[in-house]
Amino acid sequence: MAAAASKTAGVRIDDSIKREVLARTDIAEYIGQFVTLRKRGNSLVGLCPFHAEKTPSFHVHPDKGFFKCFGCDAHGDVINYLRRAENLTFPDALRVLAKRAGIEVEAENPAAARARGEKEAIYAANNLAASYFHRVLALESAGEPARQYCERRGLDRATIAAFKLGYAPERWDGLVGELRAGGIDLPVALAAGLVKAGQNGGYYDVYRGRLMIPTYAATGEVIAFGGRALGSEEPKYLNTATTPVYTKGRHLYALNAARRAAGKDDAIIVVEGYLDCIALHGAGFANAVAALGTAFTPDQAHELRKVTPNVFVCFDADAAGRAATAKSVDILRAAGCNPRIVALPAGDDPDSYLRAHGAQRFRALLDAAVSWVAFALDREVEAIASGFTGAAEIARRGEALLATHVPAQERDRWRVYVAGRLGLSVDDLRKSRLLTNPLHFAPRGPDGGERGPARAGRHVMPGAVDAPSFEREVLAIMLEEPILLVAYAKRIPPERFEDRVLRRVYATLVDRREELLQPSDIRALFSEDEEASAVLDAIQGAERSVTVRFAESADRCAYLDRVVERFRAADLQRRYRELDSLLDRLHESGERIPTELREEHRALLTKLKG
Ligand SMILES: [Zn+2]
Repeated sequence: MAAAASKTAGVRIDDSIKREVLARTDIAEYIGQFVTLRKRGNSLVGLCPFHAEKTPSFHVHPDKGFFKCFGCDAHGDVINYLRRAENLTFPDALRVLAKRAGIEVEAENPAAARARGEKEAIYAANNLAASYFHRVLALESAGEPARQYCERRGLDRATIAAFKLGYAPERWDGLVGELRAGGIDLPVALAAGLVKAGQNGGYYDVYRGRLMIPTYAATGEVIAFGGRALGSEEPKYLNTATTPVYTKGRHLYALNAARRAAGKDDAIIVVEGYLDCIALHGAGFANAVAALGTAFTPDQAHELRKVTPNVFVCFDADAAGRAATAKSVDILRAAGCNPRIVALPAGDDPDSYLRAHGAQRFRALLDAAVSWVAFALDREVEAIASGFTGAAEIARRGEALLATHVPAQERDRWRVYVAGRLGLSVDDLRKSRLLTNPLHFAPRGPDGGERGPARAGRHVMPGAVDAPSFEREVLAIMLEEPILLVAYAKRIPPERFEDRVLRRVYATLVDRREELLQPSDIRALFSEDEEASAVLDAIQGAERSVTVRFAESADRCAYLDRVVERFRAADLQRRYRELDSLLDRLHESGERIPTELREEHRALLTKLKG
């Protein structure tokens, strides 16, 4: 941008407009619509919307009018924020904020106007459609079947108004006529997914005889519709597919309405269906949203995490709902959320439960929600109980499960839980001799110095020192808790180790994993093998900080997943280097380069950059 003014297709956007926009926009209030901010000193802090993080490093300074992230160095004024958040050009971001602040901005460049124009035209079509559907439901005689339906479902007038519910009457040209009268171009309505093109060049309504539920963006525009059948017609829900303003799997229903309450309660409730969500709001749970699909997507989990990490997952109590819960829990945890699982009685959904039992009982269900640890343990306990027979083997698997999911210092508490679920006593579990003694992680005393890093350093094989850090980390962790080999042998197979000595040592551990119970067992295994013993010494000394971090890690699965991910990334890099030199050789020798290789090369490059 030039200092005084910028020329876009002959139209001036004055610096004065920028100054006015900045003066009239409260940056904290604006950003606070999308990111939960908490007061800390003179600034407000929250989770950065521009990079994935679990602890807040995104600061907003309302007095100075700027934001800054100490994690990814994103910073600037509210215009910069909007440009980054919505991927807008400067003039477009300025225009959005100006409009919001009630400041007139004249003209703009035609290309930008077209792109923005298409979106705005779709918003206009959606808004008009939402008003039309709502009017039919609220006032017109054609809305009678839907009014009866709402009454049966317990949707009162206030709820219908608050969520702007509507009805698409049983007609082919109801909305089409309304759009025409409202001056909306039908090709725009086609792009919005509201109408379809007929054979004779005309258009007809997509939604007929359905209760219409509009989905709003955080900025207040209607971006999509869900159309529910009133009877048993299929499909039960007819939803907007991807359009220029809506991407399936990126939005959450009612997040615009729930954001404030969720920020205040520091918790959010996620349900499967629109009507579950609406019923919760009606019963006073204003922090409810709906996932709009069978399970979360990472994008949706990321949206939630910006508001609060505390997520109650309350899906239907049927097989599909349980499967969706399991998948969602994994996705939420990967996004840094702390999911808790609300168990409804078999056959219920939140809506039916609320109508049968009321808000107070639902509140009790929330209070009784189980942590994701219990949920994860439960899922695997069933497999253990049904897959293994001997009590000793079951106890062993139970301990492996605890080691996988629960940090050492919390394991005793969960041991009681798992023992109960497996029908064993806590002593049975203990007797499985798989207890990981937290003392292993304490710094060694003077008499342990013999195996300390100083001496080990002299013995270490050159290869092991050069080995990638994640290869050394995996060995260090397995050395302390060999029981984890049982769970991770498949995900980290020995062939993925690049370092020769480490690969050999690790392959031996994997082969013998069923008999390795304690760190001393590993030592015994290599007592005759000088090369291996030296490497183990070196790793145990050099990677002490890793094992301590792992032992104290609240989320051991996530920790190990990150290590697995680094193996995968290293594989990609190796393949890329191979391809790179192969392509070079082919190029020099003037040979034709096969298209597949070129494409793989390009795809890898994109992945590695991402
Ligand atoms: Zn950041």
